[in-house]
Amino acid sequence: MESNERSADTEALAGSFACLSGPPSEPTAHPGCGECLSFSVARQNARSTGDYSAVSDANVLMRRHHMEAHAS
Ligand SMILES: [Zn+2]
Repeated sequence: MESNERSADTEALAGSFACLSGPPSEPTAHPGCGECLSFSVARQNARSTGDYSAVSDANVLMRRHHMEAHAS
C-alpha cells in the first residue's frame, strides 16, 4: 500500500500529472470554492518545497472538507 503511494508521488514529481485531470490518489478543488482552492494552493506550495508530509496533510484536509462541504 505504501509503495503504491510512493510511486504516485514519484510520477507527480515528474510534473506530468499537472496537465491531466488529476491523479486518482489526490482530491481536486471544486470550481468556485475558495476553501478547495486554499487547500490546493497549500498542497502545491508544499510540493514545490519538497515537503511531502505537508502535501499529505493538505490532501487529508481537502478530503475532509469535501465530505463536509461537497458530499454527494
Ligand atoms: Zn470546497
